[in-house]
Amino acid sequence: MTKIINLTVHPKHVTKYRNGYPLLHQDAIVNKEALQTKGSIFHLQDERRQFIAKGYYGKQNKGLGWILTDKREEKIDIKFFKKKIETAMSKRKSFYKDELTNAFRIFNGEGDGIGGLTIDYFAGYYLISWYSEGIYIFKDLVIRVLDELGNYKAIYEKKRFSSKGQYMEEDDFVKGVRGNFPVIVKENGMSYAVYLNDGAMVGIFLDQRNVRKAIRDKYAKGKHVLNTFSYTGAFSVAAAVGGAVKTTSVDLAKRSKSKTIEQFSVNGIDYEQQDIKVMDVFDYFKYAQRKQLKFDLVILDPPSFARSKKRTFSAAKDYPKLMMDAITITEKNGVIVASTNNATFGMKKFKGFIDQAFKETQSNYKVLEEHSLPYDFQTSRDFPQGNYLKVVIVEKL
Ligand code: SAH
Repeated sequence: MTKIINLTVHPKHVTKYRNGYPLLHQDAIVNKEALQTKGSIFHLQDERRQFIAKGYYGKQNKGLGWILTDKREEKIDIKFFKKKIETAMSKRKSFYKDELTNAFRIFNGEGDGIGGLTIDYFAGYYLISWYSEGIYIFKDLVIRVLDELGNYKAIYEKKRFSSKGQYMEEDDFVKGVRGNFPVIVKENGMSYAVYLNDGAMVGIFLDQRNVRKAIRDKYAKGKHVLNTFSYTGAFSVAAAVGGAVKTTSVDLAKRSKSKTIEQFSVNGIDYEQQDIKVMDVFDYFKYAQRKQLKFDLVILDPPSFARSKKRTFSAAKDYPKLMMDAITITEKNGVIVASTNNATFGMKKFKGFIDQAFKETQSNYKVLEEHSLPYDFQTSRDFPQGNYLKVVIVEKL
């Protein structure tokens, strides 16, 4: 393809890259100015010019690019992409066969050997997400591989790499027969409406599949449920299907109301029996405390960062306070599902936040279960930060 760029790794970072660390950081290389053309292939070498590994240059928020192989002779060509995607698909065989679920991730970035690239499957449609201009250079190869391996209705894509690192508004259709959206996908027998051509988010976060199932199967029956940061209400649907007496969904985004109505409706649930509130979660907590409302099950799944007119929220800083609010309006022996997708801290610190919140509200708790990313979100042993999801389900004693 393009010419190969030799990058010299700082001595103190050599061991890390020799041991398989997959992300290229700019402070790890001596001659980063050599990186100019997006998508170009680099060879990492030590100061004695010994080969370490090779990868592609693609700048994203996390780093400068991703290592693809430690084999000097391995070419980054169609065969390479085919091998990686084929291996990834075969790991998901049980999902393709599952009659109750037809929405899952078939390729999860560095966890499947190519950082910066994810591919999701939604009832016959593929959705490719490109996290840098560098990986986007390989688009034709990835599409050709899907053509060879996949049986699909259409391919859509999300380019997550505008100058601001954000999603760019445009037509996301790539090829095939355009879908009629929403496409109704199935997840453990529940239905969810999905839009592949309407902005960055499609209507459901696949990484919470096991948590939705746990809520439906174990924690919802006969309960009053509060779902905060509810987005399209996917957790509320799971709770309602699981026999909740009533769900209350709270999200600031205006669109969340019609989207939540839609998700209830495609599951045959009367949304008028549910509460759907468009408001700031922090205002809702104040309202609930004033009205002395209490819930049996409270779901907390905030974004890592959020800025509204009134306040900013950062999970790394403000989770304990959020958790305290939740504890205050949870019944005795009620359950809290505490979730975060913030990759900057791990499970241990997250459980520390939860512990701190219970201590400060002078209440006790018991951990019922913990979740991280599900099986289809493969992660790399050499890159634990890639396992960003942390969910702890606790009982307030
Ligand atoms: N729990 C959801 C996903 C949450 S995405 C699910 O499983 O599908 C984060 C959501 O938080 C977004 O929909 C956003 O609109 C909402 N949000 C961000 N800040 C908020 C705030 N202060 N109050 C209410 N909602 C907020």
